Amino acid sequence: MEEVQKSEYRKACANCGAELKYKPGSHQLACDYCGYEEFIEGSKSSFEELELQHYLKVVGENAFTDTIQLLQCKNCGANQHAEEHYKSLHCVYCGEPLILEDAQEEGWILPGALVPFQLDAQRARQIFKKWVDDLWFAPNTLKKAALDPEGLHGLYVPYWTFDANLFASYQGQRGDYYYETQTYRSNKGKQTRQVRKTRWTYASGTVEGFVDDILINASQRRSREIPSKITFWNLKDLVPFNSKFLSGFVTEKYTLSLKQGHHQSFQEAKKMAYTWIRRDIGGDAQRVAHADIKLSKETFKHVLLPVYISAYRYKGKEYQFYINGQTGAVTGTRPYSFWKIFFLVVFILVIMALIAIFVK
Ligand SMILES: [Zn+2]
Ligand SMILES: [Zn+2]
Repeated sequence: MEEVQKSEYRKACANCGAELKYKPGSHQLACDYCGYEEFIEGSKSSFEELELQHYLKVVGENAFTDTIQLLQCKNCGANQHAEEHYKSLHCVYCGEPLILEDAQEEGWILPGALVPFQLDAQRARQIFKKWVDDLWFAPNTLKKAALDPEGLHGLYVPYWTFDANLFASYQGQRGDYYYETQTYRSNKGKQTRQVRKTRWTYASGTVEGFVDDILINASQRRSREIPSKITFWNLKDLVPFNSKFLSGFVTEKYTLSLKQGHHQSFQEAKKMAYTWIRRDIGGDAQRVAHADIKLSKETFKHVLLPVYISAYRYKGKEYQFYINGQTGAVTGTRPYSFWKIFFLVVFILVIMALIAIFVK
């Protein structure tokens, strides 16, 4: 069987020659066979922030800093790279078998940083098991289908992050509330009430500040988005990229280009600028008629963030289950048992009927 990996990423045990894997929650590689451990040194002291405009204008879409061996899923389009020998490789998102012969060398912008896995696969399985146990109305046979250890994969998901200096000049109006007493007639006779009015005055000015780490998911697939419920990572745990952290996990290549990512980040920056402008205008209400927003000193990083995914089949249908590999946050899709719900409904109807009889 062909190897689906790049030799430079492969880490062999100095003691027995087996493959070393990253040990979640540590800064070490470990050997499953003999227990040998190796420390991962920080090769760079700080993150590499890349100057954005250079990439967009000069290097363009061919802005590659390295190559990676990738397998594309024909079912859902996810691009994934495996760091270990898989006897049979399946798409982490949808379980579709991947064909090793289809592996392709592709250019990619090397990640600048990553959040290493903090939970190991065993802990992920415990969390999954608890989640399945706590499900209401789940079919009894679900556990067996869902807890197949082959179905669970640790995946590094690609993101773009953008930093910039933001400067904006604006024109608009500031609204201040005041109250007027109005008289009106009702069937109780003549009455008064307070009515809120807004006094608008012209406002203009400038705002500026540093926009830090706008995070854009760079993994766009035809379906199967990672649910936002588990996409909060603590970016204080980012470490400079080192391929040793990928060992034993699957890495996905971005499908959203840097340019598209930048476009999305500008929309985010614009929202921030409007928030700052409204604060700057002050008063009780604000209207922004015109804002000229400029970003300068833009830099970006390609970062990888850890997720466990289990794609499982139950009665011919496909379900997914996700755990944040840093925080342990969990979510997923699940089947319902028709009979459990049916009998609960019948039970409730019987109780209601009994109550109706006794209350009479
Ligand atoms: Zn070993
Ligand atoms: Zn797939």
